[in-house]
Amino acid sequence: MTNTFFCIELPMLNVDLHCHSNVSDGTLTPAALAARAKANGVELWAMTDHDEVGGIAEARAAAAALNLPFVPGVEISITWSGQTVHIVGLRIDETNRALVAGLAATRGGREQRAREVAARLATAGIPDAFEGALKYVGNPDLISRTHFARYIMELGLCDSLQEVFADYLGEGRPGFVPHRWATLEEAVGWIHGAGGIAVIAHPGRYRFSDLQFDALFTAFKDLGGAAIEVTTGSHTADQYETYARIARQYDFLASRGSDFHGPGESRVDLGALPALPSGVKPVWHDWNIAH
Ligand code: AMP
Ligand code: MN
Ligand code: MN
Ligand code: MN
Repeated sequence: MTNTFFCIELPMLNVDLHCHSNVSDGTLTPAALAARAKANGVELWAMTDHDEVGGIAEARAAAAALNLPFVPGVEISITWSGQTVHIVGLRIDETNRALVAGLAATRGGREQRAREVAARLATAGIPDAFEGALKYVGNPDLISRTHFARYIMELGLCDSLQEVFADYLGEGRPGFVPHRWATLEEAVGWIHGAGGIAVIAHPGRYRFSDLQFDALFTAFKDLGGAAIEVTTGSHTADQYETYARIARQYDFLASRGSDFHGPGESRVDLGALPALPSGVKPVWHDWNIAH
């Protein structure tokens, strides 16, 4: 296979195209996130709440008041080959009916799942976790494992969110409840139907074989998927290079996003990632960015 190398001559913008507000599982309001992005020197910013676009109007207005170029986004949970994969949609029309309906359906099973998580945690010696997690939920429509993780930290059972996932909430742990999300076809279809660009989020997080990764990238490409995240708060420095290589190999555009969830929680702050490795084409390469 021939690799395609691009010559990048864009100014090195501080771009952050992935983060979460308290409308999903972040801790800051959309307006507070916008202010933090601006203060951290972000020059092009997307907010990408999980399965939810309810915070975009607030984020857009706050960004406009700060003269911060804003990209409406979303991060959609899908199930692919038995695992959860996240697909980011960028430059979406968040009012698109099929997208809004698809996201509502995707969110639909979360409360029931959360009750099952709580029941399993009770068996594991942590009672009342549903009520405990609810204290951290900003949007009753979007109860996430992150909210359970914050409650388990409050109880003093773990010192970090990572530890909670390793001990209680990750796959195969006592509080894990398998869940079927949207399909790859649905998520990419909703994003495209809303005029957006589809991006595979943090590919380094998935536990797929090389064969499965190839099948995922190929299926995504065949559906018109355009980009993968290369620099993200979920990747190690080695993985920046690995996924830059993958981006060239499959002719994907490259995205950059901190995946910031809140101060003191996330490894990488808004705007704090290193630049994309050379030789990849940024997903924003042909966007008309008004400053
Ligand atoms: P859910 O959508 O309810 O399955 O929750 C998934 C969320 O949990 C992700 O978006 C992350 O914010 C968080 N998460 C998953 N795995 C970890 C981990 N190992 N450490 C910290 N947070 C995690
Ligand atoms: Mn999250
Ligand atoms: Mn994700
Ligand atoms: Mn995310």
